[in-house]
Amino acid sequence: MNKTAVALLICTLSVSLLAGCETKKFFAPTQDTPKTTQPAEQEHQPATSPKPTPDPAMQQGQQQNTPQTVDTKPDSYTVLVNKQYSLPKGYVPADLVSDPTIPFTFTGEAERRMMRKEMAQALGRMFAAAKQDGILLAGVSAYRSHATQEALFNGYVQRDGLEKAKTYSAVPGTSEHETGLAVDVSGADGRCQAEDCFGGTKESNWIVDHAAKYGFIIRYPLGKESITGYQYEPWHLRYVGVKVAQEIAEKGITLEEYYRVVPVAKQEAGK
Ligand SMILES: [Zn+2]
Repeated sequence: MNKTAVALLICTLSVSLLAGCETKKFFAPTQDTPKTTQPAEQEHQPATSPKPTPDPAMQQGQQQNTPQTVDTKPDSYTVLVNKQYSLPKGYVPADLVSDPTIPFTFTGEAERRMMRKEMAQALGRMFAAAKQDGILLAGVSAYRSHATQEALFNGYVQRDGLEKAKTYSAVPGTSEHETGLAVDVSGADGRCQAEDCFGGTKESNWIVDHAAKYGFIIRYPLGKESITGYQYEPWHLRYVGVKVAQEIAEKGITLEEYYRVVPVAKQEAGK
């Protein structure tokens, strides 16, 4: 790595930190986080450059085959939604579908059966492939409206208190379920629905081995709690598309690491 590359790398890291700090400032208890990565990047051009140069983060991204900026577009399949990056107020996905051919652990119509169209097609293909391998998977809960997430979260806060609730449930506006791109799954028998005991089952193992091929990642992996801000959830799958899912799976990273944003826990500790 030459000197320029080192300088670019340092700058990129600084930009990531600044971008994260910017966001945190606006964030915390409410969900309407402005997406403020741009100003920090603009402020952080290399001081020694005689004239404007290409965005260093972008150059870094090209070198590493990873993205240069965090995707905050709510309609994008690769949008980052976490404790720092929330959805715009009032966001509702435009292409939600309820596919009757996708098995769920319950019967009848329900909001939580819905998901975005492309994801539904991918999930249908994945469940069918699992079935061919003798693994029967089913959805437990996919889309949640903002109002639903609010009711759910408030219930958890009443039961466990705010701090505890935040370790396993998302503050309204920061839940991936509100994107229509997340689904909690279990075996078709419905055992261990959204419970730790799902990890290590044959259904869970199959998902670990095959999900990326269909565009899904296990969003909150074991050992990455300090980065994602959530405890291990072997059942929570996030659709990001095949290309990104495969890169994330191959590298054993999280969506936060993919975008090189500050680990959630570091930001929380800095409050
Ligand atoms: Zn979930």
